[in-house]
Amino acid sequence: MFENLSDRLSGVFDRLTKQGALSDEDVKTALREVRVALLEADVSLPVARDFVKAVQDKATGQAVTRSVTPGQQVVKIVHDELVHVLAGEDAEPGKLRIDNAPAPILMVGLQGSGKTTTTAKLARRLSQRDKKRVLMASLDTNRPAAMEQLAILGQQIGVDTLPIIAGETPVQIAKRAKQQATLGGYDVYMLDTAGRLHIDEELIAQAAEVRDVTNPRETLLVVDGLTGQDAVNVATNFDEKIGVSGVVLTRMDGDGRGGAALSMRAVTGKPIKFVGLGEKMDALETFEPERIAGRILG
Ligand code: GDP
Repeated sequence: MFENLSDRLSGVFDRLTKQGALSDEDVKTALREVRVALLEADVSLPVARDFVKAVQDKATGQAVTRSVTPGQQVVKIVHDELVHVLAGEDAEPGKLRIDNAPAPILMVGLQGSGKTTTTAKLARRLSQRDKKRVLMASLDTNRPAAMEQLAILGQQIGVDTLPIIAGETPVQIAKRAKQQATLGGYDVYMLDTAGRLHIDEELIAQAAEVRDVTNPRETLLVVDGLTGQDAVNVATNFDEKIGVSGVVLTRMDGDGRGGAALSMRAVTGKPIKFVGLGEKMDALETFEPERIAGRILG
């Protein structure tokens, strides 16, 4: 499908080295390749441009042109810069602020992004790996099927869900979840908010109201990693309106080259905490900058 960036870069330098010493112009040619590859990996144009500029500064400083294997050296600089941007300041991506039991985690995102699945996957991870007592509650009062879906997933993974009471508002459910989590001695309660196909006022107002009554320790935005630039716009919008503490990128098992992760990090500044790698309940992993960098590089 795509020609792999590492090979492409090495190829450019091999061609050039055969002609003798490398000039600044040669480095520029290689950086053009980097830019095209980033765009093909669905990185947005401004992010790709800034990225190439940062690589150019580093490459110039390191006197790549005099290196014996300039291709490899440029690949390494590009790789290191990718990791640098992807990791940001977040030293421990998979770690959540869930001390002070019961800690509320608010899950937000558009319908179809994988929000309910991710809620259950994360609950399973917190319960099995971190030995936390977790309670999940669906606030999607418009879609009874979504509430049922969470209850079924809860049974599958052995995590409690708040019993469904017909006719309650999302805020009433959130308050009941908080009460039950406190009385029941849970460490964490997760609130799976309603999703819509687009961000609309009602969706935002509802999530904001729930946020205000529960004061979540983490507000995790679930976005489809295959939607590229759209995912970044969704994240910017949610963050402005509700405030997001971290991002989960789903469908990273798909064909995408991972460029959305780079744009997401560069544009929103929000840490990517986890990635979804399939439909199964164990297909959630801690976000690893190295791995995504490797994928973008090919
Ligand atoms: P919601 O509307 O945002 O709650 O979305 P759902 O959780 O119902 O997920 C929608 C579909 O995406 C379901 O078929 C999930 O199994 C699937 N899905 C969720 N996460 C992933 C993922 O990481 N990879 C893949 N391949 N499918 C996923």
